[in-house]
Amino acid sequence: MIQLTTATAIEKAINKARTVKPRVRVNCFGSYSVTNKTTGATYTVTCEKRNGVRLAHCDCKAGMRGQACYHVAAAAHIQLAADKQAAH
Ligand SMILES: [Zn+2]
Repeated sequence: MIQLTTATAIEKAINKARTVKPRVRVNCFGSYSVTNKTTGATYTVTCEKRNGVRLAHCDCKAGMRGQACYHVAAAAHIQLAADKQAAH
């Protein structure tokens, strides 16, 4: 599990996501398929909130080690945008 505590914690991953520009597809609430358009590799990212802490999980190598990968950053970005919209 990757803890999404602050934006800076996943800043590097966000920057990578901006470079790679993966395709993010929403499977269902809190579950995303992130595809690298160059390699065609697809990973599944799941997000959940536990005790007010936002947690994410990705099934890529880095994600399995608990590192914030760009798949999580891309999915989290989509979810944060959705949260902002819901707040309006
Ligand atoms: Zn990943």
